[in-house]
Amino acid sequence: MVFLGSAELGTRNSDLMPTEFPALPCFPCPHGSNCCSWGVTLSEAEAEALGARYGRDEVYRTRWGEWRTRVKQRRCAFLVDNGCTIHKDPHYPEVCRAFPWTDAETGGPYEYDQTICPEFLAHPELVRIGKAVGK
Ligand code: SF4
Ligand code: SF4
Repeated sequence: MVFLGSAELGTRNSDLMPTEFPALPCFPCPHGSNCCSWGVTLSEAEAEALGARYGRDEVYRTRWGEWRTRVKQRRCAFLVDNGCTIHKDPHYPEVCRAFPWTDAETGGPYEYDQTICPEFLAHPELVRIGKAVGK
């Protein structure tokens, strides 16, 4: 996924966000874009737009009604050569935009396992910073 600059973050959740997050080495990711291993949850609008633009087979709906990107060869279908091919798309998933610092739905701290980004294993202080988001 990506590291977001503070300006970009600030426009989305300025009431909840700190002004700076530590930079992560996302481009190119030295961890094979591990955070893209499971695909990502999409909003209805994102699924509709991405499916229309890149192919209906690239997104799917789970039996629980959740839209997701397809996973192919153990990575999100939109990851090619260790880079996200839809990063500049207006419907780049909000969840990817927010990871690993904030929850795309609430704007609060990311509540799931941040160590899917190996940087958080190597630098535990990053986890503490993540938990402080919005406090
Ligand atoms: S949309 Fe891009 S950043 Fe998000 S999981 Fe897929 S490849 Fe990774
Ligand atoms: S695994 Fe970590 S460093 Fe690599 S792209 Fe994902 S968030 Fe960035």
